[in-house]
Amino acid sequence: MDDFRIAALRQKLIDAQVDAIWIHAPVNRSYMSGFSGSVGEVVISATDQWLFVDGRYVVQAQEQCTPQWSIRAHQGDVWQAMRDVLSPHAVVGFEAEHVSVAAYEAWSAACVHGKSVPLYRTVETLREKKDDVELVCIRHAVAIADEALAYAIGRIAVGVRACDVAWDIEQCMRTLGASGTAFDTIVASGVRSALPHGIAGTQRIEAGSFVVIDCGARVAHYVSDVTRTVFVGAGATSEHRKMYDIVREAQERVIDALRPGMTGRDADAIARETMHRYGVASEFVHGTGHALGRDVHERPMLNARETLVLDVGHIVTVEPGLYRPGFGGVRIEDIVRITDDGCEVLTKAPKQWTVVGE
Ligand code: ZN
Ligand code: ZN
Repeated sequence: MDDFRIAALRQKLIDAQVDAIWIHAPVNRSYMSGFSGSVGEVVISATDQWLFVDGRYVVQAQEQCTPQWSIRAHQGDVWQAMRDVLSPHAVVGFEAEHVSVAAYEAWSAACVHGKSVPLYRTVETLREKKDDVELVCIRHAVAIADEALAYAIGRIAVGVRACDVAWDIEQCMRTLGASGTAFDTIVASGVRSALPHGIAGTQRIEAGSFVVIDCGARVAHYVSDVTRTVFVGAGATSEHRKMYDIVREAQERVIDALRPGMTGRDADAIARETMHRYGVASEFVHGTGHALGRDVHERPMLNARETLVLDVGHIVTVEPGLYRPGFGGVRIEDIVRITDDGCEVLTKAPKQWTVVGE
């Protein structure tokens, strides 16, 4: 994988005063090495970089990694294989957030002759700002989700099962080139629309209610995450319309304000203030958004606790919502890229009040 990622990581090893790092999380392994197999371990020192794979993955590793990588095939115990390269180092770091206690015990007993040091978000901080290649992948994943969403909204009708709408979306994304879905597709209608994560079940879509559709595609290891809410059939009341308009206003206010220098907490406060002004703050039960990339939820988050400062290269969702039990819910979610003087909205799906299946 790109040498600048390795160089940036080596600087972090210096900062953390460790001689080498064991990278265990599959997503971080793939980001650093390019190797996308399901099993493998990475070690990076000040001068060398190793990938440990079993016999199933040797050819794939050779194809995906640059010649700077030493690919070590092992049979049986991977810890024994890692011992040779790790034991000479006095201080070795590991990914504290991704290693189980059992894996840590086995690894440290077999591989570490000096000292092991827990490290936090070491690769994750490198992953925060997306480069141009990553941006191309995310744009592609967004375009696919946009198109699948439009297709599915066109097929929503009273009596159709939520799971069938989800299947329409997932098939459409695959047909358009996605390698898979980013997460379980949400299609929530009726009172279930008041569940922020109402996974599509066999419930039939009812007339006179909202349908919240939240979907994402995966393209070349990068994801999208887009939500739209439509009203089904006749019978929309002023309460429905008001709920929709408040969410849209909150969402657009955040997008208008987003710029480098603002924290995730600042962005969240804008959405929350809008909800508060309309007296519905208690119905806004989740954060305003999150960064995405190889994972659906990355930092910086847009929530009340996030102190990270937004900067050019961050790609975040903006997705306020309102959820009223027994009545229904609305969420509108776009993906935006922070730019020099604001942000660019990558999502193209329309977000005006929409009634389907009348
Ligand atoms: Zn979403
Ligand atoms: Zn999201």
